[in-house]
Amino acid sequence: MKNKASVVVIGGGVVGCSIAYNLARLGVKDVVVVEKNFLASGSTGRCGAGVRQQWGTEMNCRLAKESMKIFENMNEILKTKRDIELKQEGYLLLAYSEREMDQFKKNIELQNSLGIPSHLVTPEEAKEIVPYLNTENLIGGAFCPTDGHANPFLVTQAYADAARYLGVEFYLRTEVTGIRQEKGRIVGVETNRGFIATEKVVNTAGGYSQVIGKMVGLDLPVYSERHQILVTEPVEKMQGPMVMSFSYNIYCQQNPHGSFIMGFGDPNEPRDFNIRSSWQFLEEMARKVTWLLPPLKHLRVVRQWAGLYNVTPDRQPILCETPQVPGFYLAIGFSGHGFMIAPMVGILMAEMITGQKLSMDLELDLGRFERGELILEPSVV
Ligand code: FAD
Repeated sequence: MKNKASVVVIGGGVVGCSIAYNLARLGVKDVVVVEKNFLASGSTGRCGAGVRQQWGTEMNCRLAKESMKIFENMNEILKTKRDIELKQEGYLLLAYSEREMDQFKKNIELQNSLGIPSHLVTPEEAKEIVPYLNTENLIGGAFCPTDGHANPFLVTQAYADAARYLGVEFYLRTEVTGIRQEKGRIVGVETNRGFIATEKVVNTAGGYSQVIGKMVGLDLPVYSERHQILVTEPVEKMQGPMVMSFSYNIYCQQNPHGSFIMGFGDPNEPRDFNIRSSWQFLEEMARKVTWLLPPLKHLRVVRQWAGLYNVTPDRQPILCETPQVPGFYLAIGFSGHGFMIAPMVGILMAEMITGQKLSMDLELDLGRFERGELILEPSVV
């Protein structure tokens, strides 16, 4: 293991790997990624694999749209033959109130102005897109045909392969146990396998980002909460798009391999690091999904699991260098959408760390919470 690095990235999820690759792409030598388990072992490998561009703020639309372009051209960009299993058969967002429908109208106007090809749908049109959809109480919806699914394990691995090719070193099964500072500046990272001297550390520890923050004396405004999810046996193709409802709190899509993946967020979930599965989730999930998509009652569930959402007060990430500790960077607090924007996050963080002008305007600094400038994103889960 190296005892010196120009940048240490803590966490080998999709965000850490994307940042590490982009740092190397910009010519930074001696980048190291330290991961306590294996690549994508955190939220990344536990996520719903959905990638959507239907957002309600310009910044999120741009982050998601530019990331989608990268997903679409990942083989060429990362010079990899790895198939990331990108499937663009849309996201169908369902509206059950006039308020929700009005919000979708506003979102679509914004999305279309930025080149995202989303449109409103009537309940009848929603049924044309997913013929067995139960349209009871449905007022309408929004559909973007280029949204969809990508495999989070393969995307992370593709970034890691490309980063390794450019000289990034990955230390797996290696836990960061402390961050050493002298006179207010970072001087290195302690791990259970030794010390790595560095002046720059990137916190991409996902659900454990607050633990890493404490290592430099910061009480970061983030917490973690469990989100549960399940997968069924694979069956012949039944459903193209992801079906999602904010008000009924459910998402469900069929993977390229034929299995259905589905989940919802429990509003009463405590703030902790619990990632055990519960039978209550299984029962509630079955009830919700068989009401919304009745033929799915014939499918057998093969596995359920849980992962952590890392959540900030506005459920939007923090992407910045901390003013309190120079050289300590944050790419944390992604709530339920860190996978879909990871390609752009990697580019922007690498630009930030190397002192370049960012290729996109960001309003995601740590100070926004104290200033009371929370981001009002209506389409976040
Ligand atoms: P992680 O993938 O959690 O990676 C952090 C890594 O840091 C972990 O591998 C961990 O082992 C490591 N680590 C932690 N502490 C240390 C330490 N001390 N030393 C070394 N390593 C350490 N997003 C979407 O875009 N679309 C979706 O459909 C979607 N669905 C989701 C469904 C569920 C059930 C969950 C839980 C999340 C979902 N998300 C989704 C959110 C998405 O998974 C996350 O936002 C994203 O994966 C965050 O990536 P990350 O690299 O920041 O974190």
